[in-house]
Amino acid sequence: MTATPFSVEFFPPKTVEGKQKLQRVVDDLQPLQPEYYSVTYGAGGSTRHQTRDVVVELAGRQLEVAPHLSFGADDEASVRALLQDYKDQGIRRLVALRGDLPSGMGQVRPVYANQLVQFVRQEFGDWFHIAVACYPEVHPQAKGYEEDVAYLANKLAAGADEAITQYFYNLESFLVFREHCSRQGIDKPLVPGIMPITNMENLVRFSENCGADIPRWLRKGMAGAASKEALIAFGEDVVTRLCEGLIREGVPAFHFYSMNQSGPVSRICQRLGLGNS
Ligand SMILES: Cc1cc2nc3c(=O)[nH]c(=O)nc-3n(C[C@H](O)[C@H](O)[C@H](O)COP(=O)(O)OP(=O)(O)OC[C@H]3O[C@@H](n4cnc5c(N)ncnc54)[C@H](O)[C@@H]3O)c2cc1C
Repeated sequence: MTATPFSVEFFPPKTVEGKQKLQRVVDDLQPLQPEYYSVTYGAGGSTRHQTRDVVVELAGRQLEVAPHLSFGADDEASVRALLQDYKDQGIRRLVALRGDLPSGMGQVRPVYANQLVQFVRQEFGDWFHIAVACYPEVHPQAKGYEEDVAYLANKLAAGADEAITQYFYNLESFLVFREHCSRQGIDKPLVPGIMPITNMENLVRFSENCGADIPRWLRKGMAGAASKEALIAFGEDVVTRLCEGLIREGVPAFHFYSMNQSGPVSRICQRLGLGNS
């Protein structure tokens, strides 16, 4: 049986030390041979240059890379120029998003991810393999479950190739979501996004904003960990078990939210026998 492929997500570091650390993270992960690395994008254009720098650097190391991209408040000409730049660098993947505009940006009309996908296909044909985001526990601004899945169907119908999920810790959330997607005729790959657990406070705060549920059993388990090391060990057990369940369910790939750390992703992949481990 072939191992489930996986990708790893980074955010663009702000400092020189952060950039150097990221190079070491890639050095550590590379022996496991992730399928590709993705690099997040600040929806207001705040990380345009930093995202591009990391993308170009990874591509320069002959690694496959997927820049995240959203319109934010940008016009078509600047998004087209950035896409052309990526194309000229030989980049073949994108993660296309609406993103969340920072609150200071006024009344900018949102450009939904399906509109970005449509734009990329119209301007660049099939050059890019496009992933979009999806939400097994429902996007926080969605009116309801079925509407959210219908909007996902729109993004895929506009030409996206696959969808990467927001992270979740209940296997059942993903299975129910997959069933709803299938009922709405979605037949493209749904790739579970996996968030290793390394810091309880950050995880709880972040989850409240992004619409990911921290189940009671997980919250209690994290709170009961006697040390940072114990929390990490507990978190690795939880996430490894979740991934084992997902592998049994035949998921096509994993996407790890690495938070620019190699240790948790490496150890989980090794325990699962993913990649070259
Ligand atoms: C894999 C992944 C990667 C991410 N990377 C980043 C990143 O790099 N940078 C960042 O800022 N954020 C990132 N996010 C977070 C994401 O940008 C936010 O969740 C954002 O609020 C929604 O983006 P989206 O592309 O899913 O939006 P959309 O798919 O456009 O949906 C946004 C909301 O609007 C609704 N909706 C969709 N289409 C329409 C429509 N046509 N009319 C009315 N309502 C509609 C949906 O139900 C949903 O509630 C990521 C999320 C995931 C899961």
